[in-house]
Amino acid sequence: MTNYAIPLWDTPTIPVVDGDPFPVHRIFCVGRNYAAHAREMGHDPDREAPFFFAKPANAVVPNRTTVPYPDKTNDLHPEIELVVALKGGGYRIPENEALDKIFGYCVGLDMTRRDMQSGFKDLGRPWDMAKGFDRSAPMSEIHTADSIGHFSSGSVTLAVNDEVRQKGDVNQLIWNVEETISYLSGLIELHPGDLIMTGTPSGVSAVVKGDHLVGHVDRLTDLNITID
Ligand code: MN
Repeated sequence: MTNYAIPLWDTPTIPVVDGDPFPVHRIFCVGRNYAAHAREMGHDPDREAPFFFAKPANAVVPNRTTVPYPDKTNDLHPEIELVVALKGGGYRIPENEALDKIFGYCVGLDMTRRDMQSGFKDLGRPWDMAKGFDRSAPMSEIHTADSIGHFSSGSVTLAVNDEVRQKGDVNQLIWNVEETISYLSGLIELHPGDLIMTGTPSGVSAVVKGDHLVGHVDRLTDLNITID
């Protein structure tokens, strides 16, 4: 038993369907990975390599909970995303070995303080506080790849108060799951416990207090979150 200078904190975890909880190491997010969303944000999807940002591991929020509307924003946007949970890591992972690194998948929301992000973009500043704030990563339960396979297609939707706002398909990803893992692992060494949020389809818009969000990806457990 190691002694530490201060009490050791609990490792953030995500429940696994029919399994032990998944310990979260880090959360990486892909920017603009669906062409229609890239266009709605004012970018040309054909000319951009993938880029990444991160959220702290303790930004995860359990399914079927209420998330307080965060401070310092008047334009909170949930982005529905397929999330990949890694059981293996590596540096410069070849595309044909990437799927072997995957433990499973869940549905996630990349909560974004859009007004703050826009201000940072204008000033050329980091996005961290617009993307990586407390409780900015609600996640549904993880299904193992052993039980459900992998995702080259599948409907991705976000409904707010029963109205579908975002609608896409995993087959529309500019950089698919294997390419994303391979590319990211050329920037940093990946590790077991890392999560990758794969990007959001078009239709992003603001939510307000009292809104009920249902994130859906085919074959996965829906993510149900209320904003308060
Ligand atoms: Mn996103």
